[in-house]
Amino acid sequence: MTDGIVGEFLSLKEETDADLLAMQCGDFYEFFAEDAEFVGRELDLKVSQKSSHGSSYPMAGVPLSELSPYLKALVEKGYRVAVADQYETDGGGHAREITKVVTPGTFLGTHDADAQYLAAIVADREATDSGDRSAETDTAYGLAFADVTTGRFTATAVEDRDAARAELHRFGPAEVIPGPAVRTDEPMLSAIREETDATLSLPEAELFAPGRARHAVREQFGSSTPEAIGLESTLAIRAAGAVVGYAEETGAGVTAAMTRLQAYEPGDHVALDATTQRNLELAETMQGNREGSLFATVDHTVTTPGRRLLREWLARPRRDRAEIGRRLDAVEAFASAALARDQVRDVLGEAADLERLGSRAANGSADARDLLSVRDTLAVPHRLLEAIDGTELEASPIAETLRGLDLETVRGVRKELAEALAEDPPDSVTQGGLFRRGYDEELDEVIERHEAVREWLDGLADRERKRHGLSHVTVDRNKTDGYYIQVGKSVADRVPEHYREVKTLKNSKRFTTDELEEREREVLRLEEARGDLEHELFCELRERVAGRAELLQDVGRAIAAVDVFAALAEHAAVNGWTRPTVTDGDELSIEAGRHPVVEQSTEFVPNDLAMDERRRFLLVTGPNMSGKSTYMRQAALIALLAQAGSFVPAREATVGVVDGIYTRVGALDELAEGRSTFMVEMQELSNILHSATENSLVILDEVGRGTATYDGISIAWAATEYLHNEIGAKTLFATHYHELTTLAEHLPRVENVHVAAEERDGDVTFLRTIREGPTDRSYGIHVADLAGVPEPVVSRADEVLGRLREEKAIEARGSGGGSDESGDGREQEATEPIQAVFDLSSGSFRSGDGGSGRSDDDHELDGRTAVADREDIPELPPGADDVLEELSETDVNETPPVELMAKVQEWQERIDGERNSEIDGERNGEIDGSEGTLER
Ligand code: ADP
Repeated sequence: MTDGIVGEFLSLKEETDADLLAMQCGDFYEFFAEDAEFVGRELDLKVSQKSSHGSSYPMAGVPLSELSPYLKALVEKGYRVAVADQYETDGGGHAREITKVVTPGTFLGTHDADAQYLAAIVADREATDSGDRSAETDTAYGLAFADVTTGRFTATAVEDRDAARAELHRFGPAEVIPGPAVRTDEPMLSAIREETDATLSLPEAELFAPGRARHAVREQFGSSTPEAIGLESTLAIRAAGAVVGYAEETGAGVTAAMTRLQAYEPGDHVALDATTQRNLELAETMQGNREGSLFATVDHTVTTPGRRLLREWLARPRRDRAEIGRRLDAVEAFASAALARDQVRDVLGEAADLERLGSRAANGSADARDLLSVRDTLAVPHRLLEAIDGTELEASPIAETLRGLDLETVRGVRKELAEALAEDPPDSVTQGGLFRRGYDEELDEVIERHEAVREWLDGLADRERKRHGLSHVTVDRNKTDGYYIQVGKSVADRVPEHYREVKTLKNSKRFTTDELEEREREVLRLEEARGDLEHELFCELRERVAGRAELLQDVGRAIAAVDVFAALAEHAAVNGWTRPTVTDGDELSIEAGRHPVVEQSTEFVPNDLAMDERRRFLLVTGPNMSGKSTYMRQAALIALLAQAGSFVPAREATVGVVDGIYTRVGALDELAEGRSTFMVEMQELSNILHSATENSLVILDEVGRGTATYDGISIAWAATEYLHNEIGAKTLFATHYHELTTLAEHLPRVENVHVAAEERDGDVTFLRTIREGPTDRSYGIHVADLAGVPEPVVSRADEVLGRLREEKAIEARGSGGGSDESGDGREQEATEPIQAVFDLSSGSFRSGDGGSGRSDDDHELDGRTAVADREDIPELPPGADDVLEELSETDVNETPPVELMAKVQEWQERIDGERNSEIDGERNGEIDGSEGTLER
């Protein structure tokens, strides 16, 4: 038998592609071989050895009733676990078969507040197969997301990989099943890995086939065609059908809660690509903490479904003003009714997670306590309506949300549960004690007889004491002896004759009688009958509740919405947020705005923003650390909050609906994340330039920093022109390239703003206030000082800067991104034209003497190529070659600014030295640096 068990385990393991197998052996679920070692490590289970066919196998097991917490732990770690149950064979032996596979996306035992999505993603195969790169990037994807714990199920089709990536990031599924074409779509696979912590499962490709998927959707949702439920796209149908098929295959009864499928168009929501969701720190900070995210800041919900819904709203702000306005009306009503809000929140605090309970009812795992929670939570809509009765909230969308429910049926289900269930039912649903009297006649009769026998038994000890004059008599029962009369040793020899002894203990004896035995049989029979009958009645009741799963989900969602409205109002009231005016216009204007998260921890200096159709592109300059990125993110977050239906941190705000928010943030931030900087930066820029429209909001926090200065400026310059001329998106662009500020003179809708700083007696104060016009300085050395760079270095840097300023050709020296931290971009008239400089008025490169030089794209750091064909370039002394070589080999991104400055200084000194010795040697006089040529 032993040998057989391990063999059976191994062959069942072959059958499944689950990661682990738990196999029932009598009263235990056992893991064998590698699986045993694995769970031993992962779950700290004791591993013993089982010998089989002369070899010995590791074995680890858990009692039948304790499997759930272990499954939960494994599934939460991302593993799929197959469970094989034991059944009796005809020959009276035992065999086992896999009855279900529990996976991260289909696990029903989760208690997390977070949604638990199972996602399917399919690609438009033909496009992927074409091999043509443009076609490949244009591949459309179908996506479906189902949360089996709440019954939420939604599907869509998106145009390209970036959009698919954005949806994956929004939903953060626990498990993803990629369709056949996606399995070879390496970029999409890595996007899945990057955007989610999901377990990737690979069910048979057949599930994704259009015909089969369509059939699965039809079967599950009972409509004539998927199109009838709004699912138009074949890709979305394939994804949805695969989710249904896969969930069915796991065999855990999880499809029961999938009561409806909601198709959505990506166009219903503000496009927020995955990078933007991260950059704006919606659900977690860039460091990966929840604390400090927008969600954690505004989350004052008191229910789990409320928390889930708020997260969803923040990740998917709306585009339609009607829905936004409805939400804002509700938040406003709550914001101005503090008392009613408190009362409502008190009532909400008692609501259980109805969506989850509905699912548990549907898949048959709800127990009597769950149904009692359903009963109590179904009372919540009425109680909420009572709480708002006669208050300002009565005419708000809050009341509408609640009245929109089928309250008649809600009352009916609640009444049925109230009349059925006992107040304090046991955990088990098979042992009786679940129902109230009067619920079922037959049950009442069984209960009556049961109670009567129990009473008889309860009174037996007393009666025996009196009748036979015995002291120390008790009547009790246990597993081995059944019911017995226990008599103290001292009186044991005085028991009547019909007492039959069953056991002698140290101080007492146990007896039984014919009558007691008969009553015992009766009580056992009645207990069993009651247990069976109650279980049967309970299953029927649960099924009727399950039949209302959709209603429960509706009520759950309505409660969640009220919770979110109240939470947003609470935050608005406590933090002085105001209702934004949301329009279809082009405006984004903010008066005394604050950053929603930063204002929590800082004495925040409010600032204004004004953008409209004539003022669409703001170049934001200012010293490092002055608040540029905070200002821009704040603008994006205010737009996002407004469109999610929330009040905003501002004295006044008007938000013209945006269709998308796109951000890219400085290379330095990404460096910290260990991402390859420049390529990523350019990919992000490319995505923005491809995706943004004139109705989008674009936030660029440094562009071009990851490459040499001239490259960087040129890219930033061209991107600005493109955004301004071709796309017309509202754009906020923070840059340290002061050269760009002259763009405002050339492009009509570009304006300069800067974050003000004040310098007095060498001390710089950041005023955190936004002013019109470009900044004049960047105060990099001051920041170095603030950061604790040793004093000698700071003062030396000051000296170097002074000299460089005097020479007035900082930008001309091609010293890369770092040096202009402390450079003065406005002083660009080079008096010592050694290399090309960037011409502010033409936006092209020229030699430093003011001539109009090259303006093509080929301006590398290497000054020799940049100006080699110029005749009026001064001749450099021979030793300068080494300097130029060092210069071209210096990696600007790897060299700290201060070190760069020192290098520049050193190069200058070397060139000067060479030149002087040349002069000394030749003419012994002054040299005019503007003569001569670089060509040699
Ligand atoms: P930059 O992008 O210019 O380098 P940041 O936006 O990162 O600067 O801001 C630097 C610091 O200043 C941050 O710690 C931020 O909290 C703080 N800060 C920014 N704006 C304000 C403001 N308006 N009021 C108060 N503190 C601010």
